[in-house]
Amino acid sequence: MKRSVLGMLVAYGALAAPLGAQGTEWTLLIRNGTVVDGTNSGRYRADIAVKDDRIVALSRTPLDARRAARVIDADGLIVAPGFIDMHAHLEPLMQRPDAKSHVTQGVTLALGGPDGSGPFPLSAYLDSAQAKGLGMNVAYLVGHNTVRRRVMGTADRAPTSAELQQMTDLIRRGMGDGAFGISTGLRYVPGFYSKIDEVIALSRAAADSGGIYTSHLREEGLGLMEGVAEAIAIAREARIPVVLTHHKAVGQPMWGKSVETLRMVDEARAAGLDVMIDQYPYTASSTGLAVLIPPWALAGGTRELEKRVADPMLRDSIERGIVEYLKTDRGGGDTRRVQFGRVTWDTTLEGKTLFDWAERRGVGTSLEAAAKLVIEGELKGGASMIYHVIDEGDVRRIMAHPQTMIASDGRLTGPGDGVPHPRAYGTFPRVLGEYVRVQRVLTLEQAVHKMTGMPAKRLGLQGQRGCVAVGCFADITVFDADRVGSPATFTQPHQYAEGIPFVVVNGQVVIDNGQMTTARPGRALRRK
Ligand SMILES: [Zn+2]
Repeated sequence: MKRSVLGMLVAYGALAAPLGAQGTEWTLLIRNGTVVDGTNSGRYRADIAVKDDRIVALSRTPLDARRAARVIDADGLIVAPGFIDMHAHLEPLMQRPDAKSHVTQGVTLALGGPDGSGPFPLSAYLDSAQAKGLGMNVAYLVGHNTVRRRVMGTADRAPTSAELQQMTDLIRRGMGDGAFGISTGLRYVPGFYSKIDEVIALSRAAADSGGIYTSHLREEGLGLMEGVAEAIAIAREARIPVVLTHHKAVGQPMWGKSVETLRMVDEARAAGLDVMIDQYPYTASSTGLAVLIPPWALAGGTRELEKRVADPMLRDSIERGIVEYLKTDRGGGDTRRVQFGRVTWDTTLEGKTLFDWAERRGVGTSLEAAAKLVIEGELKGGASMIYHVIDEGDVRRIMAHPQTMIASDGRLTGPGDGVPHPRAYGTFPRVLGEYVRVQRVLTLEQAVHKMTGMPAKRLGLQGQRGCVAVGCFADITVFDADRVGSPATFTQPHQYAEGIPFVVVNGQVVIDNGQMTTARPGRALRRK
């Protein structure tokens, strides 16, 4: 009832434009809330007025509700800038333009194209994404793997100088199209085949246009230190701001090593390098099954892998490589730690583990038997996997570091879409619930800062996004600090966040009393 009266006021205001202060001067008023503004300073009560897509007034004394077309009463709730996700797998955006699994977490801007991936050519992609009608704002990185694959396929060698020039041109073109920087996935094909010189050259091209570099390290297990050192060397040589993305230490031999990686980050910063971190708040990673296979065996694609495993000598060393990864890296020494996420060729495996599969097949539970199954699974088309191989102590230590931002690494998803990592639904609410309210690893102000002001600054969007102040875009998330959390689990991930009743994107309400509206105000952002 109340809504329809307000709706009439909007209509009337539109017809009688000069109505001004008596009618619909503001399109939205969020009143009585407690503002946590993303700067890491203390909270305060304030009313926030929005006109169209911007915050136009912020007042510690009450603002007149009659001046607004729509009023949200945020009494007892936290009013924060919309969350910014520094690492999002947005590939299904054309199928899921509402981005519901992200928006329900309070995310109003997500950075796509991580891990060396990303759409190309970017400009046309941004145009078609925009035309779809988006539930949140999106921005993109240009991917090293994407451009390398276009120029060199999956060749396991250094580029010729002509090829390097071509790749550089593609990076420049992506930056010209509005990318916010370059990403690498040096653990993946074909990025794995590149040497540091190549990455430095391409990062320089991105830096020339003011871009950043986000790095999925070459190794996150036994080679973690070398991986961090390489990223820091790229920051130095290419003079580019670096983000060590989804930072973690994988596999038991490396647990606790975040003490050292964080020290390396501190030392790099002390030496004047701009190095930051992002992280998701879980003790499991998620990536393809292929990560268990030595990268040399994957050169040239599945066909070539098939040929190699047909050769007994090569097969033997591939299997030994997989056993090694299962022992010390993403297998965590126990095939029960390796869980299937999405398996197109056998959906009954989704949510089950490599241990379960071996048992079902009656091949025994040795790592050697599991290695054969990994090859079989990859040849059948691969799978997305969840690897339970991260230590909770490292998660807390990395989160508490002052340079760490929050990022989901989640893929846009929806009910029925396999058994994905729960980070796709729960990253931001989990930090606010589990790591702020329960474990007290962060204060609420710190956590919100890591989700808003810090990433906005990293992207060069300070004063526009990730802020609650006059002049900022009205990207706003309203949540209940006592209830916010994620019920999504590793076996039942398809559950939306709780305790986030309102999300506003560019001034329009996309989550209203916990329900997604039909508004699609998101924008495909281009770096200026
Ligand atoms: Zn990654």
